[in-house]
Amino acid sequence: MNRYITSAIRRISNAWPAKPVFSRLSAPVASFTFDDFPHTAWINGAPILESFGVRGTYFVAHAFSPESLNKFPDTEVMTGVSYYELNDIVAAHTKGHEIGCHTFNHKRVSQQNNCELLDSIDRNAEFVKHLLGDVIMTSFAYPQGNVSIGAKRFLSRKFSVCRGTQAGINTKLLELSQLKCFNLDANFDKNSIDALIKETKVRNGWIIFNTHDVIDFPSPYGCTPELLYAVVAAVAASGIEILPIKHALGRAMFRPITR
Ligand SMILES: [Zn+2]
Repeated sequence: MNRYITSAIRRISNAWPAKPVFSRLSAPVASFTFDDFPHTAWINGAPILESFGVRGTYFVAHAFSPESLNKFPDTEVMTGVSYYELNDIVAAHTKGHEIGCHTFNHKRVSQQNNCELLDSIDRNAEFVKHLLGDVIMTSFAYPQGNVSIGAKRFLSRKFSVCRGTQAGINTKLLELSQLKCFNLDANFDKNSIDALIKETKVRNGWIIFNTHDVIDFPSPYGCTPELLYAVVAAVAASGIEILPIKHALGRAMFRPITR
């Protein structure tokens, strides 16, 4: 396909509002998410969040499990990154972190029809249920941030909320089929943290930070423990409440009863 047409389709897909909902946030919130669940996101990332008494959301794809790694030709595996051990998922859930769905095979959703997507999320749900019991994943993250209009419509009916990788703060009209986030990766500007926090407070928004591995020498998609600590500390110090995606969504959908 002509690259200009491909680019136009991508722009339209990203802009298409498949599940717009007015925010009912009475105060700004923040979430920290980890795509693919690298092992270091657990052993290095979780202690940082927990040191502030907060929890994150870990998006799991079966394709990165020890028994499946490198068995799916469409799965793009990050070179040099160790993925989760099965016990990591159990421990994360036990300690109150959210486990979210990142598909079974980590294949781009725009390359799959609804039947294939359904099969992928059902099989991933079975994988997680086998580990955690009767746990239903209500949050979804698009592999590689890739979307299509059809996939957004389909997946936003299957999950309470879907997160993409487009940069931005979620305010007022929340697009629950593709929440925006800021990627804590090689391109993240540490000097932007204060301005992002200020804007989130001014706009009464929901800011989401996403990363992958958390280690001293991360992949281009991950970050150092120092950067993650700096961002979590700055958000916590600002007074913005830090919640896993599903809990932040609850704040955004339901105002607390006041007398
Ligand atoms: Zn991913």
